[in-house]
Amino acid sequence: MSSETILKVSRISKTYQAAGRSLHVLENVSFSVGAGETVAIVGPSGSGKTTLLGLSAGLDRASSGSVELNGILLDDLDEDERAVVRNRYIGFIFQNFQLLPTLTAIENVMVPMELRGEKRVRERAKALMDKVGLGDRLHHYPAQLSGGEQQRVSLARAFAGQPRILFADEPTGNLDAETSERIVQLLFELNREAGTTLVIVTHNLELAAGTRRIIRLAGGRVVSDNAVGGGEAGMSGKIGGGNQPAGGEAGRDGK
Ligand code: ADP
Ligand code: MG
Repeated sequence: MSSETILKVSRISKTYQAAGRSLHVLENVSFSVGAGETVAIVGPSGSGKTTLLGLSAGLDRASSGSVELNGILLDDLDEDERAVVRNRYIGFIFQNFQLLPTLTAIENVMVPMELRGEKRVRERAKALMDKVGLGDRLHHYPAQLSGGEQQRVSLARAFAGQPRILFADEPTGNLDAETSERIVQLLFELNREAGTTLVIVTHNLELAAGTRRIIRLAGGRVVSDNAVGGGEAGMSGKIGGGNQPAGGEAGRDGK
């Protein structure tokens, strides 16, 4: 399943200049993800998870190091070229949703398909809105939706691009338990049915436990990278310790 590498992050660092000093947010982070793999990125607030996800998806550039996505070296591309790669291969669920405020919910979901010049866009967007349980909120504007509803629109929009790899930044962060469960199921369904690679930043133990691998960040560095048993059935006991020796960092590199 993970014979083909879809994402290769090599020794990336990210430094921000803030208030006259350099802030080293990521230092020398490397990992590779195989096509169809499911990976959780966990770590304390401020450890660099959102930054790492954005760099991996070509939303921003690293200060050093390189990112290769689906065989394409993102470092060499300008912003327009990276936007094309994102539209073609990547879905991204933002921590703060980033829905377009002047478009209705269904129109937001239609955007990626329209950018790709696809057909039956409205009909398919409606089906996706039904799938995330928002069939009765099609014509609401983002400001008229709750946080959890906006999150689900954001999920439907990410699915609409039929991405090869989906990055999700705390996708259940604003949801009640029941909705959260439903979103977790939808994510893994996408992985099973479409083979979509999932890279998910999460504090949700159930979601992390459903993935096959957990990368732990602290202070901008990878402190562990472990295979877990995987499968959605209650693996939560295995998350805490980072004591799963199988498939550690060394074994993952150089794929
Ligand atoms: P996490 O998602 O793990 O909470 P982030 O990646 O959002 O962490 O942020 C990591 C660190 O980088 C934080 O200390 C944050 O304040 C800082 N940071 C993030 N974005 C910027 C930015 N654009 N400019 C300066 N500092 C930033
Ligand atoms: Mg974050």
